[in-house]
Amino acid sequence: MRLGRVASPDGVAFVAVEGEQGAETVREIAEHPFGNPTFTGRSWPLADVRVLAPILASKVICIGKNYAAHIEEMGGVAPDGTTIKVADPVIFIKPNTSIIGPEVPIVRPPSSERVDYEGELAVVIGRPCKDVKAAQAKDVILGYTVANDVTARDQQAADGQWTRAKGYDTFCPLGPWITTDADVSDVEIRTELDGVVKQQSRTSLMLHDVGAVVEWISAVMTLLPGDVILTGTPSGVGPMTAGQRVSVTVEGIGTLSNPVVDKQ
Ligand code: MG
Repeated sequence: MRLGRVASPDGVAFVAVEGEQGAETVREIAEHPFGNPTFTGRSWPLADVRVLAPILASKVICIGKNYAAHIEEMGGVAPDGTTIKVADPVIFIKPNTSIIGPEVPIVRPPSSERVDYEGELAVVIGRPCKDVKAAQAKDVILGYTVANDVTARDQQAADGQWTRAKGYDTFCPLGPWITTDADVSDVEIRTELDGVVKQQSRTSLMLHDVGAVVEWISAVMTLLPGDVILTGTPSGVGPMTAGQRVSVTVEGIGTLSNPVVDKQ
């Protein structure tokens, strides 16, 4: 099932998407998409609604450096210069106010001279949980969506920690839909900037897979329904400038596309 959130002429609602590509309809969910959602009976053609970020997260937890080739491009080689060591995952949080939906502009703040895309697979949590073992992670996951962990790269280096660099409004594009029944253990992840492929990898190359990531994070903090985990970006990160368009695709999950503007 594909779940999301739309603005219709009648207001904002969670929905399920049905039908063939190009002729989809969205069915209104009565309350929230967790558990077994119930439907109001109303539906609209997809073309008649605006697609919003698919979920309202209480927090967005991110994994830093989960693909060896990205660690390498960021200068994180092992002391012997040859081997990337698989360390414990580094985690950080993006504020939920950074979330935007598909087609909403990413706004480059004037305080940064380099704002980068980071295409990522996102995990959406489906129920309250704590201390989840990797083997049980699927029981607490609602589904998967696509994210862009937008980063003010110059401020990430300058600040020593990443709250400012990762936390600007619009720095967490998310969507368009949450796919509930996907196998994401080995799917392609690809980022295009103005149609040029910049990142292309597979989720099977993650150093810590989805189960391990859920176990690691839920050992630290309680996860709530709707919380979002960004699972890290592969190599090929780079800057975006105003007027460009960035699109992140996770195979079988969807394509998330956003224009880039400078803050006025
Ligand atoms: Mg990232």
